[in-house]
Amino acid sequence: MTTMLPNADGFFGEHGGRFLPDEVIRVVDELAEAYDSVKNTQEFQDDFKRLLKHFSGRPTPLYACANLTKKLGGARIYLKREDLNHLGAHKVNNTIGQILLAKHMGKKKIIAETGAGQHGVASAATAALMGMECTIYMGAEDIERQKLNVFRMEMMGAKVVPAMTGQRTLKEAVDEAIAAWVADAGESFYLLGSAVGPHPYPAMVRDFQSIIGTEARKQILEMEGRLPDYLVACVGGGSNAIGMFHPFIEDEGVNMVGVEPAGRGMTPGDHAATLTCGTPGVLHGFTSYLLQDEKGEPASVYSISAGLDYPGVGPEHSFLKDAGRASYCAASDEEAVKAFFALSRTEGIIPALESSHALAEAMKMAPTLGEDKIIIVNLSGRGDKDVAQIEQMLSDGRITAD
Ligand SMILES: *Cc1c(COP(=O)(O)O)cnc(C)c1O
Repeated sequence: MTTMLPNADGFFGEHGGRFLPDEVIRVVDELAEAYDSVKNTQEFQDDFKRLLKHFSGRPTPLYACANLTKKLGGARIYLKREDLNHLGAHKVNNTIGQILLAKHMGKKKIIAETGAGQHGVASAATAALMGMECTIYMGAEDIERQKLNVFRMEMMGAKVVPAMTGQRTLKEAVDEAIAAWVADAGESFYLLGSAVGPHPYPAMVRDFQSIIGTEARKQILEMEGRLPDYLVACVGGGSNAIGMFHPFIEDEGVNMVGVEPAGRGMTPGDHAATLTCGTPGVLHGFTSYLLQDEKGEPASVYSISAGLDYPGVGPEHSFLKDAGRASYCAASDEEAVKAFFALSRTEGIIPALESSHALAEAMKMAPTLGEDKIIIVNLSGRGDKDVAQIEQMLSDGRITAD
């Protein structure tokens, strides 16, 4: 039943929908109709699967963490290796799907926004592959902080436009990207990077990312002859988590755990644990749980990992929380850093700091469970991008490597 959502208006229970001015609704409607008409065609599915395989290197392995499991005791930990995708994270599953749709719609230009730069890099690469013009809006502050990713985007032919208003970060970049899209809706396609935004984006991004759970389900059945007991994934906007969870929703024995960033602690402004601490509200054209102040303005958020510090969350996660089908918790910066080093040292795999939050929760859970239990952690990305930040924090004495 729950796999049939959203409804025709884009609602997952009370969450989702479209809360936008009429001129934006019009362009979103055009997109929704186009997606509905192509998504189940053989041609679209063949193109999507071919590019996932040959451009990104799918299927990604399901990897048994023998060393980490032995060290912790208890449940067996598997990793879904999204870090082995081209560009180092799950983001490319979605950029391939959406740019294929843009081509079908006859669009010439891709418009995207990016905070930490990971979605921008995947967008730039996929646009280059498909011969599309690509413009990426990025807060002027974020451009300063993420220079390497800006170079990567430019190297692949994208134009990076700084958002100069307000806090000069992701929120302003989104505002400017949407304005540019609406002003040039005939030629442009807005490529959204997570399972958020107005309908149909949350459902569409989920569909593209569901390759993660579809593969993992098949792989664990082949390797263990049964389904896992737990799925664990980090939640920023929620795309890697919903992509992992969705193909298991009807499997009642499979528990799903989303892990948000607890940052420096649970004081407002020190974390981005939206489902753990938020209340329903509207942001970027949809309703969901939201970290907000008394006036309903999005609260300021923080996490050690730039990919998780968003004050909202995808509406399907809010629904799964209300329905009690998934549970959500939070891991701190410190716990994530611990998990980052633990995986690097026991398995020789350096995880993204985002993914390290999921790993931290799995490392807490495993010793409390029997050896017959199975946990699959979605390793959403690799940590190469975080190595300089970790090195800086080590040399400042802000963290230690044990
Ligand atoms: C962007 C990113 C995330 C957070 O985004 P979701 O939409 O919540 O998946 C998590 N992990 C990595 C590696 C990322 O790049």
